[in-house]
Amino acid sequence: MIRLESVQLGYDGRLVLRDLNVEIVPREIFGLVGPNGSGKTTLLRAISGRLPPQQGAIYLDFRHLSDLSSQELARELAALEQEISCSFDFTVREVVELGRLPHRERWQRLSAQDREIVTRALARTHTLEFADRGIHSLSSGERQRVWLALALAQEPKVLLLDEPTAHLDLNYQIEIMELVRSLAKEQNLTVLVSLHDLNLALHYTDRVALLSEGRVVALGEPERVLTEELIEQVFRTRVRIVDGTGERYIVPLGSRQGVLS
Ligand code: ADP
Repeated sequence: MIRLESVQLGYDGRLVLRDLNVEIVPREIFGLVGPNGSGKTTLLRAISGRLPPQQGAIYLDFRHLSDLSSQELARELAALEQEISCSFDFTVREVVELGRLPHRERWQRLSAQDREIVTRALARTHTLEFADRGIHSLSSGERQRVWLALALAQEPKVLLLDEPTAHLDLNYQIEIMELVRSLAKEQNLTVLVSLHDLNLALHYTDRVALLSEGRVVALGEPERVLTEELIEQVFRTRVRIVDGTGERYIVPLGSRQGVLS
């Protein structure tokens, strides 16, 4: 469904990622992990069509990304950036209604079907109960669910999430990831998600790409990619992978340079 062929990404001639050859299949949750600055956001930006590759090509359903209009792209793909801000205090429902924009002409009003889709997106993300409240009055965890509702109202096939759990308490991190996982299954969504928490990547992704020093250093099932050796090599931090209640967990032991040990 999404294919990257010999893609090179960067800014103003500065190279960030090279030799990207990745195929992301329908209905999978594909994780991006790697140290700060390794290019996770850059890669999501490129797949959302906002950063044209310096070299190579990105295909969405066999169509070259650059051949799609922004409206066509928005019907296929919804992207949640890391820092979303809303300067005006819209109500939650008004925010989610924006998700219907790609499906209608600018001058058209919301149809009954649009309203139903918006209500369904609110219900599915457990935000219906505060649909009439201002977006600024919500907690970070609640607001994150509203952005997800906005994305769902777009009825995309692909969901791009940039660190959706950043700044959230542990319980909200789990809640968001559980929600993403069930949405992917129910609505046949393909999800690309960048995560800095390796345990979330281990538990919630089907496959993961580990980015470091300008390239993908490993790609595959999270258990195969997130090994003690590779994590130490890439993050320069010693970890142990432990088994607890039938699940594996990555536990940091301290810095390789001995700063923490
Ligand atoms: P990550 O998401 O893994 O932290 P980013 O994709 O944000 O990494 O950044 C990768 C590299 O690209 C960094 O060196 C960063 O400074 C640079 N970069 C990111 N955004 C821009 C931009 N808009 N203009 C120039 N350089 C950028």
